[in-house]
Amino acid sequence: MRKKIVAGNWKMNLNLNEAKLLTEQLNNIEPKLELEVHLYPSALLVANVAQLSKHIVGVQNFHPEEKGAFTGENSIQQAISSGVKSVLIGHSERRQLFNEDDGFLKRKVDAAVANKLPFIFCCGEPLEVREGETHVDFVVNQLKNALFHLTDLSLATIAYEPIWAIGTGRTAAVEQAEEMHAEIRKAITENYSEEIAEKVSILYGGSCNESNAKDLFACPNVDGGLIGGASLKAESFAQIIAAI
Ligand code: PEP
Repeated sequence: MRKKIVAGNWKMNLNLNEAKLLTEQLNNIEPKLELEVHLYPSALLVANVAQLSKHIVGVQNFHPEEKGAFTGENSIQQAISSGVKSVLIGHSERRQLFNEDDGFLKRKVDAAVANKLPFIFCCGEPLEVREGETHVDFVVNQLKNALFHLTDLSLATIAYEPIWAIGTGRTAAVEQAEEMHAEIRKAITENYSEEIAEKVSILYGGSCNESNAKDLFACPNVDGGLIGGASLKAESFAQIIAAI
């Protein structure tokens, strides 16, 4: 059975006290056995959150080099030594605001694998691509360009996050989410095998909240969610977790 995951991407929100409070509140949640809850705080707070949390704590970003003169960056080994158990790769904000291209994302994927660190690989199309109806090719190419060079996908989770739905309050319709998730699974089958495709968890992200999570999670190819805004409030996040 595929792993179910609900992950909270806190982005550049919450100070140390707020993050500790939210972490403590989220410790009251007892997820079902087959469900993983992930928290992705800011890198500055990750050691504190990892120490306090009973859930899986990850980083939103890292540099693919092992160490060296990369002022302001954090390495994967530094993340691991701070208690990190997962990393995000390819979030659209990293792609768009920090110019992370496929070549760079491929290096990050390889660094995660070299360090045996599970990762969530994010993909998703901008609005004009969706309107031009080339969204499936666009997303499958993102996967081919930076993920499908791996021979083994066992550390990978995929998050489909249409850019037009991130932080906009505009969620993909369940049919749109299911269509893309099914296409992603088909692409894994074509590039690997049906057996592997059945094992990779595919999360939905983009204005997922306590009102729409249940319908989205009911889709056969949606294995959970990557949640931004709604993960910052314990009650909303708890309701999303309960929806799975
Ligand atoms: C995200 O940034 O991963 C995300 C899904 O954000 P939001 O839930 O706020 O749209």
